[in-house]
Amino acid sequence: MKDSHDDTLLAEVAALLESSEHDGHPLHDALQRLYRHHCEQRGQMQRLIEISDRYQLLAMEARQVTQQRYERTLRRQQKLSRISDGYQALIQERNQALHQASTHDPLTELPNRRLIGERLESLVEARRRFTLALLDIDHFKAINDRHGHDVGDRVLVALTQVLSESLREYDLCARWGGEEFLLLLVDTDRSEAHTIVERLRLRLAEVCIRSEDQTISVTVSAGLSQHQPGDPHEVTVKRADQALLEAKRAGRDRSLTDTP
Ligand code: GH3
Ligand code: MG
Ligand code: MG
Repeated sequence: MKDSHDDTLLAEVAALLESSEHDGHPLHDALQRLYRHHCEQRGQMQRLIEISDRYQLLAMEARQVTQQRYERTLRRQQKLSRISDGYQALIQERNQALHQASTHDPLTELPNRRLIGERLESLVEARRRFTLALLDIDHFKAINDRHGHDVGDRVLVALTQVLSESLREYDLCARWGGEEFLLLLVDTDRSEAHTIVERLRLRLAEVCIRSEDQTISVTVSAGLSQHQPGDPHEVTVKRADQALLEAKRAGRDRSLTDTP
């Protein structure tokens, strides 16, 4: 029964019970008890409905709070993971920069002594054939003295460019020291290497640097040594250095090989 019908019926019953017209009627007391019982039941029912409504409201609010908390946590985690990704990229970048700095020369960007040392060690371990050429600029101190250190630096960079362009992909040119370069010629014997280095030496002599109204060029001397199986690479470098010294003594602007 709908509430409005119920209300109308109850109002009718209440009116009947209140009216003195039906006092003494055999059903009067029973109807009164039934009326009171119904009113109590109705009150209880309404209280139960209110409790249930309140409970549903609380449950809905709790769900909303949980959902909001979950979304907030999710957003925070997404932000953290973006920050962490950024840091990782930064660390990777820094590591690459550190690796570059520890293995390359900052002026010429050529591999440094450490990097070529590692490469030589692995070639020796793999029993690969190779020849080393140690190149040294002739009278470089005089270039610095006459034209200044900056011009000396430009000469070093210009020579590096030619060296890098001229070598084969599997060869390596490192800055060994101040004005010294170490060339690693892989799978190359002494006489093949000599041909390559001579060609290179002539090309380097053609490099010109302009400073004010002067044109500067340099010559280089080179010492070559073919690696002997079983030798540590340091021995081969030493023999190349010895051959370089002989090239210097013999008048510079030339390349000499070690004696087989
Ligand atoms: P040699 O023909 O006997 O090799 O004579 P040299 O003058 O080239 O040799 P020396 O060892 O007397 O001088 C080398 C010079 O190289 C001295 C040093 O100042 C210069 N040098 C070393 N590193 C650099 C550099 O990075 N930049 C410049 N501009 N000069 C450098
Ligand atoms: Mg030198
Ligand atoms: Mg020199």
